[in-house]
Amino acid sequence: MFQKILIANRGEIALRILRACREMGIKVVAVHSSADHDAMHVRLADESVCIGPPASRDSYLNIQAILSAAEVCGVDAIHPGVGFLSENAAFAEMVEEHGMAFIGPTPEHIRLMGDKITAKETALELGIPVVPGSEGSLEAAEDIQGLAERIGYPVLIKAAAGGGGKGMKVALNAAGLDEALRLARAEAKACFNNDQVYMEKYLSHPRHIEIQVIADTHGNVAHLGERDCSLQRRHQKVWEEAPSPAITPEAREKLGGIVTKAIKQLGYRGVGTIEFLYEDGEFYFIEMNTRLQVEHPITEMITGIDLVREQIRVAAGLPLSFRQDEIRFKGHAIECRINAECPETFTPSPGKIQDYVAPGGYGVRVDSPMYQGYQIPPHYDSLIAKLIVYGDTREECIQRVSRALHEYVITGVNTLLPLHRDLAEAEDMLSGDYDIHWLEKWLALKVVKQAA
Ligand code: ADP
Repeated sequence: MFQKILIANRGEIALRILRACREMGIKVVAVHSSADHDAMHVRLADESVCIGPPASRDSYLNIQAILSAAEVCGVDAIHPGVGFLSENAAFAEMVEEHGMAFIGPTPEHIRLMGDKITAKETALELGIPVVPGSEGSLEAAEDIQGLAERIGYPVLIKAAAGGGGKGMKVALNAAGLDEALRLARAEAKACFNNDQVYMEKYLSHPRHIEIQVIADTHGNVAHLGERDCSLQRRHQKVWEEAPSPAITPEAREKLGGIVTKAIKQLGYRGVGTIEFLYEDGEFYFIEMNTRLQVEHPITEMITGIDLVREQIRVAAGLPLSFRQDEIRFKGHAIECRINAECPETFTPSPGKIQDYVAPGGYGVRVDSPMYQGYQIPPHYDSLIAKLIVYGDTREECIQRVSRALHEYVITGVNTLLPLHRDLAEAEDMLSGDYDIHWLEKWLALKVVKQAA
C-alpha cells in the first residue's frame, strides 16, 4: 500500500480524500494556491506545499509545480480528485513517467473517454445504446441542415471536449441551427480550446441516470447501482439521489450487466461513471467520466462501500475487496449541493463565513471544509458543502433532508440552503416525478409567483 499520497485538488473533495487516507494510515501532502493557506485540508495534511498564485492555471492546473512538490515530498501516488487535472491524460502520463502511481485509469482510457465523440463511438462498439446523432464531429463542409432534419428537431450541438454543461446549445428548428452551431463552437473554443462539436437529438423529458463502476487490475469489475441526477440547472447537478425513483430492479440489473460487461471488455481500471439519459423506458449513453464524481457519497450510503478507499486500493494493485454478488443496496440517499451563491440569481457569493453550524444526527453526513471565520476565495467553484442524507425509505430520507436543512446555519455569504429547503417540500420532488427540465421550470414558476 502507498505510504504517502499527494492530493492535487482543493475544497470538499480534497478533504474527502484526506479522510480516506488518514483511515488507511497513509500520509497526505496537500498542495494549495496562495488563496488557500487557511483551507481545512491544508491544516489537516501532514505536509503542505504552496504551488502558486490563486488563479487555477497557475496553481491547481500547474503540472510542473505539482510534480515538483510530489518529488520533493517523496510521494508514491497522486490523487487528482475531481475537476482540475483529474481527466487530463497528459498529466496522468507524466505522473507515471515520474515513477508515481496516478490514482485513476490509464492515460489511454482518459483520452478515449475525454473526447465525447470517441467515447460515443466506443460505447457503440461495446454494445451500449447512445443518443441518436451525428457520426463523429460536424465538419463545416457537410450538409448539417440535412443531418438535423434526419435526426429531427430539436437538436443539441455539443462540444467534443465538453464538461460542466459548457459548449452545449439547442436548436429548436432549422432557423436556429446556424446560431446554435456558432455559439456552441465559440463556447467550446473559449472553454476547452477545441471547437469540435457534434449533434444529438435533444430529448424532451429524460432523466439523467448514471451507473457507478469500479474495476481492479485483476480483471474484477463491479457496478454499484445508479444515481439519479435529473435535478439540474444549466445542465449542472443540484441534487442527486440513489436509487432512482424511476428505475425498477430489473432495469438496474439489465443496465448494470451491460455496463459491467463493457468495462471488462475495455480493460478499464479504477472508478468510473457511465452517464445515460433515460426516456420512455430506453437508456441512451451520453458520456463516461473517468474519475470520482462529486455525488459519489450517495452510492457509499446505500452500499456501505467507501469508494475512495477502494479507489486507492485498486490503484495500489490490490483486488476489489468485494464481489458483485456481495453488494447489497439498502435504503435511500440524497445529496444537496450547497453552493455559495444567491438562491435567486445564482451569482457566486464569496466572502467570510460569520456563523457556521452544520446539522447532525442519525443518517446525516456533511462533506464540507467550511468553518466559522473561513474566507471563501472568489477564484474557484462555488460548491462549499455537500449534505448527504440516508433514510430507510425515500420518504424518510426526504423528511430527514428537510430536517437537516433547517438545522444548517451558514451566515456571512449567500448559499443555496433556502432553495434546497423549498425543494425538499416541492410536490413533484416528494412524488419523484421530475425530469432534467423540471428544476428550471419550477424556478421560473417561482419567479412568476413572487412577481404576482
Ligand atoms: P457535460 O459533460 O457538460 O456535463 P453531458 O453530456 O454529461 O455534458 O450532459 C449534461 C446534461 O445535459 C445532461 O445531464 C442532460 O441534462 C443534458 N443533455 C445532454 N445531452 C442531452 C440530450 N441529447 N438531450 C437532452 N438533454 C441533454
